[in-house]
Amino acid sequence: MTFDFNTSLIENYHSATQKARVLTEDWLGRNMYCPICGTPVLTHFEANRPVADFYCQVCKSEYELKSKEKSSAGIGDRIVDGEYSTMISRITALNNPNFFFLTHYNNRVRNLVLIPNYFFVPSIIEKRKPLSENARRAGWTGCNINLTSIPQYGKIFVVQDSIEIEHSLVVDAYRKVESLRTNSLDSRSWLMDVLHCVDKLGDEFTLEEMYSFTKLLHLKHPDNNNVQPKIRQQLQILRDRGFLQFTTRGHYKKVK
Ligand SMILES: [Zn+2]
Repeated sequence: MTFDFNTSLIENYHSATQKARVLTEDWLGRNMYCPICGTPVLTHFEANRPVADFYCQVCKSEYELKSKEKSSAGIGDRIVDGEYSTMISRITALNNPNFFFLTHYNNRVRNLVLIPNYFFVPSIIEKRKPLSENARRAGWTGCNINLTSIPQYGKIFVVQDSIEIEHSLVVDAYRKVESLRTNSLDSRSWLMDVLHCVDKLGDEFTLEEMYSFTKLLHLKHPDNNNVQPKIRQQLQILRDRGFLQFTTRGHYKKVK
């Protein structure tokens, strides 16, 4: 994997957005393998497909690519994305593609992170202010993806601060989290929201500590008045899928 963009491609482009699009898509097409099945190449969809940008011919996984120029280390807290309602309906219909987020600086890749599609739940999407009446697209409302609301397991690094992660480690990391895939939005939201709370606790924690998130989780799920039983149920799911161990009554340990 080389980190450099092919800047000869953008001589005829003027808009910064278009330049970034051309450079990052070209780079991903030349360098990226399928992080889900390990196939060495990804295929570019023809231009103007509404949702995904790349797909794998073997496992049929689809990927969308977003990028941001960023001089500092890390991936930052937020990604600016498209229209809010479109994003929410894609998430609700469970048909959003997997997501690659790339940061670059001086025409070189700094970070590339894979976010599997089942980590996309409404609570990670923030509504931006509608465009003002004087704007060309008045009333149009965009969204941000809040990266800090995504559990650690949902951010699989392919390149981290200019260091390439070994392919087999990336594919293994994906396989480990694949058991978190669920087929309904409600179960997906609960699992991801509880996992995000677990991230904030130490390697060993108690049920009491988890209950400190009751209010927060109730705000995210206002229709549910049985938040604590729901927390226990999600902890059981995380245990059954190999992410947690129950040590003694009310005590939990994260599996590394
Ligand atoms: Zn694949």
